[in-house]
Amino acid sequence: MNRCLICMSALDEGVTLKEYLFEEDIICGHCRHRFIKNDRIYTYKNLKVHAFYQYDDFMESLLYQFKEGRDVALADVFLWKQRKKMVDIFRQHQCVIMPSSKEKLESRGFHHLKKILACSKVEICDCFIKTKNYKQSLQRAQNREKIHSIMQFSFFPEKDFYLFDDVVTSGNTLLAAASLLRKKEEMIEAYVLSVHPRFVEICDKQ
Ligand SMILES: [Zn+2]
Repeated sequence: MNRCLICMSALDEGVTLKEYLFEEDIICGHCRHRFIKNDRIYTYKNLKVHAFYQYDDFMESLLYQFKEGRDVALADVFLWKQRKKMVDIFRQHQCVIMPSSKEKLESRGFHHLKKILACSKVEICDCFIKTKNYKQSLQRAQNREKIHSIMQFSFFPEKDFYLFDDVVTSGNTLLAAASLLRKKEEMIEAYVLSVHPRFVEICDKQ
């Protein structure tokens, strides 16, 4: 029998009857119920952000185990519930993933966003290159030229696109990507796995 990918319990542990009958899952009910769903859509500057879950201690530790602990077996748990919806959302759009630095890619041996998206069969566009220390630098880079020196794209997406990241915290990465790809002042939409409380606060304070 298959076991929960997170806690190794039997898959039917803690599932409701409805879930048991209608929702095939790869983790047990107890673990599934720890994902806190998020229905809000956030608007921040020229960015519209859709987040599937809230970023809390559970999400943090799961992402840490997956990314830094290189527990690749966890990859499918993040978007498992959205995998079919994602195909619909991205039917006419490429999924532009936020970059990892070369050092991270080499030490991890995989791009975490490609792994997370693998269960949903969306068309991935890996067009960005990230330079060192870019998180800190991005906060200071207000204009396009400065952003270019930190984050660049190697090619332009071939069709319409939405951005994708695992966590939105300050919004700086998505804003930088949007500003590099945007035509004039158009709104750019992004989908993220989870939204950090700090980003919710930033959006509420505008
Ligand atoms: Zn479990």
